Amino acid sequence: MHGLFTNADGKKVIHKTDAEIEKMRASNLVVSKTLAYVASLLKPGITGESVDKAAEEFIRDHNGRPAFKGYNGFPFTLCMSPNDVVVHGFPGKREFLETDVVSIDCGVELDGFFGDSAFTFAFEKVEEPVMELLRVTNTSLYKGIAQAVAGNRLEDISFAIQNYTERENGYGVVRELVGHGIGRSLHEDPEVPNYGRRGKGMLLQEGIVLAIEPMINMGRKEVFQANDGWTIITRDRKPSAHYEHSVAVRKNKADILSDHSYVNEAIKNNPFLKEISLKS
Ligand code: MG
Ligand code: MG
Repeated sequence: MHGLFTNADGKKVIHKTDAEIEKMRASNLVVSKTLAYVASLLKPGITGESVDKAAEEFIRDHNGRPAFKGYNGFPFTLCMSPNDVVVHGFPGKREFLETDVVSIDCGVELDGFFGDSAFTFAFEKVEEPVMELLRVTNTSLYKGIAQAVAGNRLEDISFAIQNYTERENGYGVVRELVGHGIGRSLHEDPEVPNYGRRGKGMLLQEGIVLAIEPMINMGRKEVFQANDGWTIITRDRKPSAHYEHSVAVRKNKADILSDHSYVNEAIKNNPFLKEISLKS
C-alpha cells in the first residue's frame, strides 16, 4: 500500500537512526515471513478471504499489528490484487484460478515502526507474456533500489524504473500511485514516483527510508478506481504487476530491509506457483 499522489507541502522527510533502521528491519522481517506464509497457502480453489485471515493470525502470533487493517478504513490485513487489479484489491470470496497472477501487499507495525513489502505471484498456468511482465517489474524494483544511495537524487530511482519498464520494455508505468517514505508512520514524505528525470528531486542522504514499489501495466498506463473506493484496475483490463521493498539509503549500496528470499523459497516448495526469476 502506498500514498496516493498528494500535496507534500508542510511535511518533511524524517531521517532514521541506525537503531531505528534495525527496528524497521525487524518489522520488515515479519512482513517478509508473512508473504512467504501466504505463498505456502496459495493454490487454485482457495479464497483470498481465507488467506487474509491466516495472514492476520500469523502477524499477531509474531507480535505485530496488520498495518493496513483500519488504515483510512481499509478492511483487511492484505491488499490482494489479481490480474487486471493494480493495487488495493480486497481479499474476497473468489477462488483463485490456475491462470491467475495476484499481487499481494503486506504492512506490519512492530515496536512502533512499520514494514511494507509486496510481491506478485503466478499460478502454474500463467502464460509467458504475463510471466515476462512479472520478471521485468521485479527486475525494475532492483534497478530502482540500486539508485537509492547517498548523493543521488530521488528521481534517479524513478528514472531507473521508468526507463527499464516503459522505454526498454514497452509497458505502462502507473502515474497515480507512488512509493513513499516509511518509519513511525506507514506513509511519510517523500513520495517516490515510478517515473521521473535523472538528476531531479531531493538529495538522498543516509538514514532516509523509502518504500520503492513499481506498479507496472502490461498495456496502457491508465487506471481507474472501483466503486468500493479502493480497488485500482487497469483501464484496458490487461494484467498489472507490483513488487515492493522497504529500503534504507546508505553511502555506497542501499540496505534492503524487507527480504523476498523467504517468498522465493516458499514458491519453490509450492507446486501450484511458478518461480519469478530476475532478468540479467
Ligand atoms: Mg505495500
Ligand atoms: Mg508501500
